[in-house]
Amino acid sequence: MLVRVLGAAAGGGFPQWNCSCRNCRKLREGTFAGHPRSQTQLAVSADGLAWFLINASPDLRFQIEAFPPLHPRSNSPRDSPIHGVVLTSAEVDASLGLLLLRESQPLIVYATEGVKRVLVEDNSFFGVLRRQADQARWRPVTPGEPFGLETIEGLPTGIHCMPVATDATYPGYVTPERSSSLPEAQASIGLFFEHQGNKLAFLPGSPTVDDEWIKQIETCDAILFDGTFWSDDELIRIQGTGRTARQMGHMPVGGPDGSLERFSGLEGPRKIFIHINNTNPMLDESSDEHRQVTAAGWELARDGMELEI
Ligand SMILES: [Zn+2]
Repeated sequence: MLVRVLGAAAGGGFPQWNCSCRNCRKLREGTFAGHPRSQTQLAVSADGLAWFLINASPDLRFQIEAFPPLHPRSNSPRDSPIHGVVLTSAEVDASLGLLLLRESQPLIVYATEGVKRVLVEDNSFFGVLRRQADQARWRPVTPGEPFGLETIEGLPTGIHCMPVATDATYPGYVTPERSSSLPEAQASIGLFFEHQGNKLAFLPGSPTVDDEWIKQIETCDAILFDGTFWSDDELIRIQGTGRTARQMGHMPVGGPDGSLERFSGLEGPRKIFIHINNTNPMLDESSDEHRQVTAAGWELARDGMELEI
């Protein structure tokens, strides 16, 4: 399975338009020891011909243009090698890009019923995906129930997905009343991909990691894990207010309960942090945090990174 990282930043990207944190400021000044990133986006394919987007970032239009295998190939006026999209949540940075795929192109959208309801029932913009019958073909995803990725023609690709529920809640823009009317376990999922016996874990947003996941992850060839924040109070310290990393659905990388510690015994898979927020000090390749990450055997995902699983 081919995996292309089209974007590796958390919501807002790096730099973020209204942010003057140390990282964003130094990046703009040209004095930052590191790289800009667009918002987290994957593309996967079993054969290099039929592609699937994993989430749909607000940067999707540019991300598609930056990767020629996703460009139209036929001589017909409308064509795309993108057959479907798998959504892990209804967060803006994971789903807004669906609106950019609206040009009457048939598309399979794999999502939990809860995520679909938030997007389609609560946001009339998503009507652009219903302009034609059979345009967006929603396929319900249930945590714990594996499904196969199929082409728009209904052919199996050989890529299988096991969705797992995370402890993350529905996005902050969903009111508490609305959230309580939706299935809690369908708010946010992680994905374990399998193709020809090879496995990839994609867990971009999770405040906790249960022991069963660790067992699953041990059998994977690679893991792309939540690298949003270094510390639990990172945004509060920068903004003066706000929620902790865990309250926002993210396990911090550093600290006694962070992911470096939690995965310290992990030996099997290649370990890569993705969905990295612009405030995270590990983005600075001259920082102590970056040294800690690399010393622990982790890599930081970057736009354009490719894996063959
Ligand atoms: Zn910033």
